[in-house]
Amino acid sequence: MYTLVYSITGEKNPDTVYVNLTNACTNSCVFCLRCQKDDVCGAEMWHDDNYTLEDIINQFKEFPSAKNVVFCGYGEPFLKKDMMKSFCEYLRKNYPDIKIRVNTNGHANAIYKTNVAEEFKTLLDEASVSLNSDNAQEYNEICNPKIENAYEEVKNFIKACSDAGIKVTASVVTGFDTSHKINEDECKKIAESLGAGFRNREFITNGY
Ligand code: SF4
Repeated sequence: MYTLVYSITGEKNPDTVYVNLTNACTNSCVFCLRCQKDDVCGAEMWHDDNYTLEDIINQFKEFPSAKNVVFCGYGEPFLKKDMMKSFCEYLRKNYPDIKIRVNTNGHANAIYKTNVAEEFKTLLDEASVSLNSDNAQEYNEICNPKIENAYEEVKNFIKACSDAGIKVTASVVTGFDTSHKINEDECKKIAESLGAGFRNREFITNGY
């Protein structure tokens, strides 16, 4: 069975585990690890989405020390929205103290044409949304989105998370593509105007 739940520290008893729901994504970011390597700290990340909720639960149980679960991996977690919801519900029911976060490209509301943030408001503690730029042109150059009006949709999603009461952080990635000098101050201002915190995620070669 391929990797659905993994640790990025290599520890046997990590506080935080990551969930790799899919390899599909509506972006193709210049810094995406999927284009560069096949694993995150030795965990093979490619799969065909052909798994069950029980498979996730079984792999999750290999990390009994987990206090945080992060939907992340080699793809956009919300593209497996129903599976994500089922696993969140399982965690809320069986491990109510575990904090749940999603790292997302922020396209979910545009893809499903509904307020996904609202749908997940009791299931997610936190969302980290990839803002990646202070303007649409640069966003498109960095992220190569496959949806229309993606930059505005991302900003709308950040606001929707904030409005739903999910703690939200807008992120940028620096330290990878030197042809883009991300205006972090402007990105931070935009994040704050949408009710979000801001984080610069330094590019790390091992993955996240
Ligand atoms: S949003 Fe994430 S998974 Fe999708 S292409 Fe960008 S870095 Fe890769």
